[in-house]
Amino acid sequence: MMKIGCHLSSSGGYLAMGQTARSIGANVFQFFTRNPRGGAAKALDKADVAAFAAFAAENGIGPILAHAPYTLNAAGSEARVLDFARSVMTDDLKRLEATPGALYNFHPGSHVGQGVETGIGLISDMLNRIVSSFGGDVSTTILLETMAGKGSEVGGRFEELREIIDRVDHPLGVCLDTCHVWDGGYDIAGDLDGVLGEFDRIIGIDRLKAVHINDSLNGRGARKDRHAKIGKGKIGIGAFRAIVNHPKLRDLPFYLETPCDLQGYKEEIALLKGLRR
Ligand SMILES: [Zn+2]
Ligand SMILES: [Zn+2]
Repeated sequence: MMKIGCHLSSSGGYLAMGQTARSIGANVFQFFTRNPRGGAAKALDKADVAAFAAFAAENGIGPILAHAPYTLNAAGSEARVLDFARSVMTDDLKRLEATPGALYNFHPGSHVGQGVETGIGLISDMLNRIVSSFGGDVSTTILLETMAGKGSEVGGRFEELREIIDRVDHPLGVCLDTCHVWDGGYDIAGDLDGVLGEFDRIIGIDRLKAVHINDSLNGRGARKDRHAKIGKGKIGIGAFRAIVNHPKLRDLPFYLETPCDLQGYKEEIALLKGLRR
């Protein structure tokens, strides 16, 4: 069974997200852990978490993917920025202990002119500090997202993610965003096997835990990071047929982050299911 869903609003809580997912034919979903601009998270509602757990088990929903606020920067140059990133990620991971089996995805960060090496060092130190504050006992799988390489983003090259993974004293996974890798220059439309082979050589395909399935408004290597609806961008529908059927990808959960409302997501989920062989 294909694991496919989309980004959902978390404003109604976990059970509401589960019900919304089911209503649009999804069996996985992604949500922001808090306002994407990074405000305080709502208090965790234990009754809602328990009701969702029962609903998810009954309906075969999961894994759920919690996305950290995209404004968080673990590679920032100011103490204030780094403290904010650390406190938000620590708090998010504490809350996610209530929903076992969840994935936690974050953008590695932007080095803001300090250089990629310095950025990688800051991100790795941050993760090591966070994980050690849990006594090493973090049950949620932490994912680094592949980035488009926009501005000073770290994580636009597989090598950069590998270096973070090597320096962190805790097993990390990766979430591959099809729009981002395309914008970063990887030819997933013309040479999917080659790109996944490179991912495997540099990072290890077993680290790949989730796929953000998005088309791109821009050409390969544009480094713009503008998501498009599936089949309406430069990656194209043929590439998505290959992506959802590829033996290295087909059993992973796919999360749409395209510019759609719920009806649009429902149609894209049906479209992608229809591409499966
Ligand atoms: Zn993201
Ligand atoms: Zn993404």
